[in-house]
Amino acid sequence: MESLSKIKVIRLSKSCLSDNEKQAVMEVLNHEHLGMGSEVQQFEEALSEFFGRPAVCVVNGTAALHLALQAAGVGAGDEVLVQSLTYVASYQSISATGATPVSCDIDPKTFCLDLQDAERCLTKNTKAIMPVHYSGNVGELDKIYFFAKKHNLRVIEDAAHAFGTVFQGKKIGGFGDITCFSFDGIKNITSGEGGCIVTDDKEILEKVCNARLLGVEKDTEKRFSGERSWSFDVTAQGWRYHMSNIMAAIGIEQLKRFSEFSKKRKILAKKYDKLLLNTNLKLLPSDYDEVVPHIYSTCLPEGVDRELVRSKLLKKGVQTGVHYQPNHWLSLYPSSRKEINTVDSVAPRIVSLPLHADMSVTDVEFISNSLKEVI
Ligand SMILES: *Cc1c(COP(=O)(O)O)cnc(C)c1O
Repeated sequence: MESLSKIKVIRLSKSCLSDNEKQAVMEVLNHEHLGMGSEVQQFEEALSEFFGRPAVCVVNGTAALHLALQAAGVGAGDEVLVQSLTYVASYQSISATGATPVSCDIDPKTFCLDLQDAERCLTKNTKAIMPVHYSGNVGELDKIYFFAKKHNLRVIEDAAHAFGTVFQGKKIGGFGDITCFSFDGIKNITSGEGGCIVTDDKEILEKVCNARLLGVEKDTEKRFSGERSWSFDVTAQGWRYHMSNIMAAIGIEQLKRFSEFSKKRKILAKKYDKLLLNTNLKLLPSDYDEVVPHIYSTCLPEGVDRELVRSKLLKKGVQTGVHYQPNHWLSLYPSSRKEINTVDSVAPRIVSLPLHADMSVTDVEFISNSLKEVI
């Protein structure tokens, strides 16, 4: 690691912050109201305008998923269909409710949920389906909604990668059952940590608003007017999941810069596509008119030593990632299925290349050339 400090490392992902975010945080600090108040309210209003329907902010994307599932009535004895190739956050949010995540396969073309496989996993206990919008792609989302309707399932979209993506002319989050986003430090926009739940289901909205504040009923309105509830009822299990004004102040400024971020991510991903097209790497298809790419994942050819490739790239100053280690390989989530074909075959070969809005096209050229040299 010591020698690395001498070369410039292109980071896999990072927060991209301007003076505006720093100024906004200073204002909150000067005002000395750090908890949940007017900045959170403003951020929620801006997000609701962005999506065209109500958004509720919480402390992170995992909490958003957890609250959404809980509000949808998912709990002990229930099963939730989810692709194994996702961040462990998706799984933990399901098991946190007492429900069981049921590991499904992915479509080899998009790495999104394989709906035919999900159909095979359906039981009388299946209560919900959680499609994960891998890298910003949403796969067969229309068919997933059709399937859910047919089998009376709730749909909780893990849209942590898909902030800004458009599907069939509509923004992700702007339609459908319940959509959850993450604003952690490396997502398409950040509020430091953070996340939100977007839905127009009034019952869900009320439940998540209360549950983020320990189940204290109507505390949200009080906090938005600078007060809090001293006398209240609690009727359901809640959590300490609200967002702070410091976080919201960052988020508000990031949202203003989103079109700039989005444009840049698309340019960089298009450049990768062009430079890596005629190699033996498997690329994910993307229609960047609709998709805002969150990560740039590729699949190495069979037989290539991934860790060797990654360490050679790091020596050249290119940090890479692995999105993801499958969840059905984890001890906590033993699957009744020993093998999940596509996930098992692609997961050991996935490598993600750097993608963030502070990179240049020259960086992409350097990374692509470096990768071609080492495979
Ligand atoms: C980031 C992420 C989450 C969770 O978000 P946090 O804000 O980190 O809790 C969930 N699912 C996926 C696919 C993610 O990438």
